[in-house]
Amino acid sequence: MNPEGGRPGGHLVPPGAPRSFHLLVKPTGAVCNLDCRYCFFLSKEMLYPGSRFRMADDLLETYLSQLIEAHAGAPEVVVAWQGGEPTMMGLDFFRRSVGLADGMRRPGQRIMHTIQTNGTLLDDEWGEFLAANGFLVGLSVDGPRDVHDTYRVDKSGKGSFDRVMRGLDVLRRHDADWNALTTVHAASQDRGREIYRFLRDDCGATFMQFIPIVERTTPELLPAADAGWGHRAKDRPLYMQDGDQVTCRSVSPGGYGRFLIDVFEEWVRRDVGRVYVQMFDVALASWHGEPPGLCVHSETCGQALALEHTGDLYSCDHFVEPAHLLGNIRDKKMLDLVTLPQQQRFGLAKRDTLPRCCLVCDVRFACHGGCPKDRFATTPDGEPGLHYLCPSYKAFFCHVRPAMEQMSGLLAAGRAPAEITEEYARQDSRRGRNEPCTCGSGRKWKRCHGAAGIRPAETAQEDTAVVATSA
Ligand code: SF4
Ligand code: SF4
Ligand code: SF4
Repeated sequence: MNPEGGRPGGHLVPPGAPRSFHLLVKPTGAVCNLDCRYCFFLSKEMLYPGSRFRMADDLLETYLSQLIEAHAGAPEVVVAWQGGEPTMMGLDFFRRSVGLADGMRRPGQRIMHTIQTNGTLLDDEWGEFLAANGFLVGLSVDGPRDVHDTYRVDKSGKGSFDRVMRGLDVLRRHDADWNALTTVHAASQDRGREIYRFLRDDCGATFMQFIPIVERTTPELLPAADAGWGHRAKDRPLYMQDGDQVTCRSVSPGGYGRFLIDVFEEWVRRDVGRVYVQMFDVALASWHGEPPGLCVHSETCGQALALEHTGDLYSCDHFVEPAHLLGNIRDKKMLDLVTLPQQQRFGLAKRDTLPRCCLVCDVRFACHGGCPKDRFATTPDGEPGLHYLCPSYKAFFCHVRPAMEQMSGLLAAGRAPAEITEEYARQDSRRGRNEPCTCGSGRKWKRCHGAAGIRPAETAQEDTAVVATSA
C-alpha cells in the first residue's frame, strides 16, 4: 500500500539511506485490495489500460541492477516497494528480489529493503520473511477502529481495521521492524493525542509518520469526489494535481497543525528519545542546522522518484502523470533519467516558485513552503502558490520553536534532547489546574494535556470553558 495514501507527505527513507536518489517502486502499479476513500493513487490504473499490473521478472532484474549500479560507491542501497498494494505480488516475488539484490551488491555494500503495506495480507510466512531479511515495514493505520474505518475500507465499503490489526500482530510476533504511517484527515484532525496514544500504547509503535490528506479537486468534480465517486474506484477520473478545492475528507488548512501540536505536547513530556515522530525529528534537524530528511520540508526536492510496474519512471510518487514521465528504464538507464534537466528543474522549482510571503517567513528555514503539489492557496496579498497547509505549518513550527531551540542546545552541549522532559515537568508542577492548556486548545490544563489517559470526548463539555472565561 501506499501509506501516504492519499499519502500527501513524503517518503519512507530509512536513516542512512544514500542521499543521491530514492525510488519508490510499484510492482502492482495502482492495484490494491482496499479502496480507501481518500486514495488518489487507485485512479492511476487508467494510465495503463489492458496491463496485468505485475512487474515482470526481467524488469525486476533490470531495475535492481540499474539501482545498484547507480549506487556503486554507496555503502547502502535502498530497495523500496510501494503501491497500490505490493504484497499482492506474492511472497515469491520478494524472495526473488532479495536473492537477486544480494547477488548483485558490491563487496561491503548493504541492501536495505523497505515495503509500505496496508497490512491486510500479512501472515506468518510474510512475518518470518520480512523479519529474516531486515525489511523496514511501513504499515498504514489511521488510529482506533472508528477513525481508521472512516476512510480505509475495502471494495465492499467494509472497514479494514481488524485485518490491519491482524497484520500488525504478525509483524510484532516476528519482531519485524515497522513504522506506523498514519494519515491526518477531516475525521482525525482533532484527535491527535488520542491517536498518538493508540499507536504508542495499543499498537506498540515507536516510529510514526503523520501524513496530511489533501485531496485536491476542481469545482466541477467536487460533488462527485465528496460522494466518494459512488464508492467505485473505476468511476474515479484520473487524479491530477489540479484544482483549488479539497474534498470533505481532507484535513482543514489549520487542522494538521492542531493535530501535530496536540501530539507534540504529549510526546515532549513523556516520549522524547523513546518514540520517533518524523515531523518532530524534521523540525529538530532544521533547528540544529541539519538536512531535514523529508523532501516536503527540504529547500529543493526531486530525489524521490516513482517507478511503475512497466519500468516507467516518474518525477515523484505524487506526479505519476504523463507530463512528469521521464522515460522507461528498459530504454534508458535509470541514472540518465534521474539526472535529466527536466528532473533537475522539477526539484529546483520547489525553491524557485515560492511566493513572497514564504520568502519573508520566519519559519521558512524549517518549512520551505511544503510540497509543491499542495501549493494552490493564495497569500494574504493575493499571490498564488501558497501551500494549502500554511496555517498549520506556521502554527506548528512557531509552537515548537522554544522546545526545538532547547533540544538543539542540549545536542550542541553533547547532552540528550530527552532532558527537556525534566524542564517540562518542572514547569507543569507550577501550573494551575484550571489554567489554559499549553497546547492552545482553550481547554483547562487539568482536562487537556495535564490529564493522564483522558480521551478528548470526555472533555468535550469543558472545551469552551476556558475560552469563554478568558475571552
Ligand atoms: S491501501 Fe488504501 S491508500 Fe493504499 S493504495 Fe490501497 S486504497 Fe490506496
Ligand atoms: S513534489 Fe517534491 S516535495 Fe513533494 S512529494 Fe514529490 S519530491 Fe517530495
Ligand atoms: S509557514 Fe507558510 S509562509 Fe512560512 S514558509 Fe511555510 S508555507 Fe510559507
